[in-house]
Order: sequence, then structure tokens, then C-alpha cells
Amino acid sequence: MKEYSIEEVSHIVRPQLGDNIPLMLYRILRVIGMRKILGETSGATLYMMGKQVGAMIGAKDLGEFEKKIKELKVGIPEVQVVEEDYIIVKLYECITCAGFVYTGEMFCDMESGIIAGLLESVFKKKAKSTQTKSWSVGYNFCEFEVMLY
Ligand SMILES: [Zn+2]
Repeated sequence: MKEYSIEEVSHIVRPQLGDNIPLMLYRILRVIGMRKILGETSGATLYMMGKQVGAMIGAKDLGEFEKKIKELKVGIPEVQVVEEDYIIVKLYECITCAGFVYTGEMFCDMESGIIAGLLESVFKKKAKSTQTKSWSVGYNFCEFEVMLY
């Protein structure tokens, strides 16, 4: 199976429809489709996928990290460096959960992975991101705790 680069998938020829898609389609694929196919492993798989994508995109500093997350419309990040190896990322308008009703579970695993992957490229260290807040558990933003090691 071939592996494709970001450059290859960025080449879009859709003169009438353009390069934007309804967010609802993304959520159907992401929250309904992928969970259905991947089942209980969807969280870990989507996290690993996000991490790889985050590393491919890369960022050289926290300013660029925030810029990329916003440019890709993953959400509007707010970074707080709590300690040298402990970072909290609040994500407003999260691509996956913003507006979601209370379900009692959190599932922004791909976003968590993208954040970890990008922060690995910023700090040149390994990163482990854990989601701690989400619209789906009663907040109006998403939050991730990131440990660097
Ligand atoms: Zn979210």
C-alpha cells in the first residue's frame, strides 16, 4: 500500500465545490463511522493517527503550534505551560465535540493525538496527551493535559 504525503493530499481540483466540506460530514465520518468500524479500539487508533498527522505537520514553537491548530480549524487553542514538562491545552470550538450534548464520555482522541504530535515537534521530546474536559461531559471547551518526557 502506498503512503501519501501532505503535499499530495493537498492538491485539490474542485472548481465548483472548493476545499471546504460541511463539518457535519466530518463528524459523521469521525464520530459515527470510525467508532462503528473500529469499536473499542477507536480511541487508541484515532490518537495514534492524530499523533502521526501532528508530527507530519510539525511546528517549531508554541506560536506556530497555535497557528496550525487554528489554520486547520481543529479548534482555537489556549496553551498554558504549567511546568517544564507539563502543558495544559484548552481547545475552544473543537472540531469534534463543540456543541455536543452531554454523553458522559470523551472521544476527542484524534485531536488529543494531533496536539501531542505537534508538541513533540515543538519540544523535541515525547508527548503523551490525555483529554480531561469536553463538551460531551458538560464543559463548553475541550481540555488536554500533556506530559513531555
Ligand atoms: Zn473536543
